[in-house]
Amino acid sequence: MLELRDVRSGYGQIPVLFGVSLAVGEGEMVALLGRNGMGKTTTIRTLMGILPVRGGSITLDGTSLAGARPFRIARRGLGLVPEGRQVFPTLSVTENLLATARPGPWNAARIFALFPRLLERRSQRAGLLSGGEQQMLAIGRALATNPRLLILDEATEGLAPLIRVEIWACLEKLRGERLAILVIDKNIDALRRLADRHVIIEKGVTVWSGSSAALAAAPEVLPRYLHL
Ligand code: ATP
Repeated sequence: MLELRDVRSGYGQIPVLFGVSLAVGEGEMVALLGRNGMGKTTTIRTLMGILPVRGGSITLDGTSLAGARPFRIARRGLGLVPEGRQVFPTLSVTENLLATARPGPWNAARIFALFPRLLERRSQRAGLLSGGEQQMLAIGRALATNPRLLILDEATEGLAPLIRVEIWACLEKLRGERLAILVIDKNIDALRRLADRHVIIEKGVTVWSGSSAALAAAPEVLPRYLHL
C-alpha cells in the first residue's frame, strides 16, 4: 500500500535522510526503529508532505505522493498522530474530533467506545487533559479522518505505565480490525509482540528490515543498531 524507496530529505540545506526504504501492506503493522536522531520523525514528516522529497520515491497504491500538500496526503488515507500529540488545546475533546472528521466508520461514537475516558471528558478543553488523555485524543483525531494507514510518531512516549498498556491494547484492537499501522516507539518489547515487520534506520539510511520472526532469529540486530 505505502512504499518508500531510497528516500532522501532534510531541513533546508541540511540533508538528514540518505536512503530510507520501507513498505506497509494492507492491514499490516510496521515498526520504524532507530536510535535518537537517526531520522524517524524526519521520515514521517517527509512522507506526510511536511518536508520535501529530495530523492527516491514515495507511493501510495502505486501513485506518487511526492510534492503533494499534507492535507491532500491526509485525504488519501494517511492519519498522523504527531510527536508531542499537538491536540488543539483551546478546543473541546468533541471539537478536536469534529475538526478532522471525514465520512467513514470512525465517527465520534466509535472513537468514544474505543476510549471511554474521552467520552467522560468530551466537553473539556483538550489543553487541560492529562498526557495520556491527550494521546488518546490524538489517536482519536487521526481515526476521525477515517484513514487506511495510521501513523504514530512515539506512540507511548512520556506516558504513565498503565496508560501505555491502554494505548498498546488500543493499537492491538485496531490491528485486529485490519487497519494498517506504522508506529515509532521506544518500547521494543511491545513492538516485537505486536508488529508484523520492523524497519531499522541509522543515520538516515534503512539498515535492516524484516518480520518479527526474522528479528527474533537475528539476536545481533538490536544490539548493533539500537544498542539494546
Ligand atoms: P528522536 O527519537 O530523537 O525523535 P528521530 O530518529 O525521530 O529521533 P529526527 O527527529 O528525524 O530523529 O532527527 C534526525 C536528524 O535531523 C537529527 O540530527 C536532528 O538534529 C535533525 N533535525 C531534526 N529536526 C530538525 C530541524 N527542524 N532542523 C534541522 N535539523 C533537524
